[in-house]
Amino acid sequence: MVCSRCGATADSLPVTWTCSVENGGRLYFCDDCARAHLRAIESRLDSSWW
Ligand SMILES: [Zn+2]
Repeated sequence: MVCSRCGATADSLPVTWTCSVENGGRLYFCDDCARAHLRAIESRLDSSWW
């Protein structure tokens, strides 16, 4: 697993990570990034908007 924003890696998907579906693909964000951008993720804004 690789965080789509900061590039953090994990062997398997941690429960604290967030999955966002954008443009038909799945993006994953680590807990730090998910927390920082929770509102944007929940609003389904593309990460490019950030
Ligand atoms: Zn991250």
